[in-house]
Amino acid sequence: MPPDMEQLKARIRHIPDFPKPGILFYDITTLLRDREGFAAMVEALAASYRDAGIDVVVGIESRGFIMGAAVAQALGCGFVPIRKPGKLPSSTLRESYALEYGTDTLEMHTDAITPGQRVLIVDDVLATGGTAAAAVRLVTAVGGDLVALAFLIELVFLQGRQRLPGAQVHAVLRYASAVTPGIGARIKADARP
Ligand code: AMP
Repeated sequence: MPPDMEQLKARIRHIPDFPKPGILFYDITTLLRDREGFAAMVEALAASYRDAGIDVVVGIESRGFIMGAAVAQALGCGFVPIRKPGKLPSSTLRESYALEYGTDTLEMHTDAITPGQRVLIVDDVLATGGTAAAAVRLVTAVGGDLVALAFLIELVFLQGRQRLPGAQVHAVLRYASAVTPGIGARIKADARP
């Protein structure tokens, strides 16, 4: 029997203070390495879009590449990467967005999406929504028809959906509040002398 949503959540590791103090990092590598968990994750992301006529899945660097490519394969459509600056070799479009301190930038090839193509954006985590909103701007700027955004994890308390007005947003696993650090915290505590 495939794992249910609670079993998927149980396969995600939580690492406190990574990559910097105060951040609780949702580490999906523990889910990806699990054969049944990986398959269930891809199915849960793709299921709602089997009859949606998606032409391309857009994945955001870098974990969005892993799940986006798998979802594209499951839906039988193409895959388009959105990358960090300076990585894509041909003509690009760029979008910047504000972080707590400073800005971040994403790029997409200008010819990656043909105007009118139906697009599904996929990423691992919807947090404050800045990354996803920049991806939406890139897709719509080249004339893509945005059908929906699909995430494995939504950190509901960060209200990322507010930055995606009018978009259809689907999240497989929703967290109403920050989880209590589990296995990751224990590993860190055990490592102390
Ligand atoms: P945001 O722009 O705030 O919605 O952040 C979304 C991006 O940052 C996603 O591409 C995630 O990979 C990453 N991210 C943000 N917060 C976390 C977190 N707590 N754990 C893991 N990844 C995160």
